[in-house]
Amino acid sequence: MGRVGIGYDAHRLVTGRALMLGGVAIPSEKGLLGHSDGDVLLHAIADALLGAAGERDIGHLFPNSDPQWKGASSLIFLEQIGDLLHRQGWAVENIDASLIAEAPKIGPYLEAMRAAIGRALGIEPARIGIKATTNEGMGFPGRGEGMAAMAVASLEKA
Ligand code: MG
Repeated sequence: MGRVGIGYDAHRLVTGRALMLGGVAIPSEKGLLGHSDGDVLLHAIADALLGAAGERDIGHLFPNSDPQWKGASSLIFLEQIGDLLHRQGWAVENIDASLIAEAPKIGPYLEAMRAAIGRALGIEPARIGIKATTNEGMGFPGRGEGMAAMAVASLEKA
């Protein structure tokens, strides 16, 4: 019997930070603020995976009070969550995520993101869906104050 989980995250956009999305560095004047690399897409995916397994959230596993996660690549979170799921006998059936951001266009980076996430979790990129939408100029993503992401994940017993 399979399980599903949901994840949501939002991060503020600031100058002087590299923009990391889906584990890929994207040229940008602004990046996402965070204790780690602020990769909003990976954080939503991480919470979806953890939720499906009935685990507590990413902030509990990797607290922003812990100096070892300062500036950390969020791919490390996914690697550790992948190991946790593996130990519990879960296999990732699929992941689907949506980025909500006015810019950049992620099309050129999509395959690199799926490859990076697939590598971190030890799954085929074909199991990973990534989409993006603007917020039509409305709210904090629309004003370019930040980005948000939503994700679902489905697990099956391996
Ligand atoms: Mg986050």
